[in-house]
Amino acid sequence: MYKRIVKKNDETDYIDDLLKLISLKNVPMNQVFESSESCFFIRHDVDHSLNMAIEIAQVEAEYGYTSTFFLLPPGSYNEEKNYYGWIDNGEIKHDPELIEKCKILLSHGHHLGFHSDLIASALKWRQDPKEMLQKEIDYFDRNNIRLIGTAAHGSPLARELEFNNREIFEGCIRKGREVGRIIEYNGWKVKTHSLKLEDFGFEFEAYSLPRDSRISESGGKWGGRIVGEQIDREGLFTNFKIQEFRKIISRLQPDAKVSSMQVMTHPCHWKVVEK
Ligand SMILES: [Zn+2]
Repeated sequence: MYKRIVKKNDETDYIDDLLKLISLKNVPMNQVFESSESCFFIRHDVDHSLNMAIEIAQVEAEYGYTSTFFLLPPGSYNEEKNYYGWIDNGEIKHDPELIEKCKILLSHGHHLGFHSDLIASALKWRQDPKEMLQKEIDYFDRNNIRLIGTAAHGSPLARELEFNNREIFEGCIRKGREVGRIIEYNGWKVKTHSLKLEDFGFEFEAYSLPRDSRISESGGKWGGRIVGEQIDREGLFTNFKIQEFRKIISRLQPDAKVSSMQVMTHPCHWKVVEK
């Protein structure tokens, strides 16, 4: 074990200051429903760096943890290409190294999922979300890779038009939002709740998994809810104290009445430090 994974802006050690302090059973995301004891699962939204995801995957495996990495097709950020590929005439072209890198993640005992910006992409590129998703599933199928679930990406267009990308799937309903409504953008329309998770081999949408405790570092800031207590996101960010952070995480004990917890990271907020 020669490497440490450390958060860039506050030096939190991913293993020692976070995972090791969670005294719950670590389970893969598709087994959360079956777990009879308090458990936690790890979700990585790979927005930018698949190489960093590989580093994390390796270290997790060394310590016996399992997690799921959600892959984001290109086009969600203002960049021509990402680790997944690029857009050519409205078609996704896949990075020649994508499959090889996916297989490295799988070789460490982890799972892969789809980081979905589907509603936003369909609107922007004037395409049918079902066809778009099916093409991606077929591509991974051809390469013998299974995506076990999906996790919605929070894109600017979603905020602007007040939808959440998970709403493309049947059953992914948000309070106060109409089921089967039409989202319109530049004259193109997408109907929410029009696809079925199981038609694409997905076992879950990440937001629908039970998680009565959760932590994430969206935007580089720790946030979430641990054993009924909200993390003071801004306070912890402006005045980060590692002891305070460790104390919060250490509350995750088997007797804390947590049923399941989500640890969510974005690999781009982390770096590798040689021991
Ligand atoms: Zn994302």
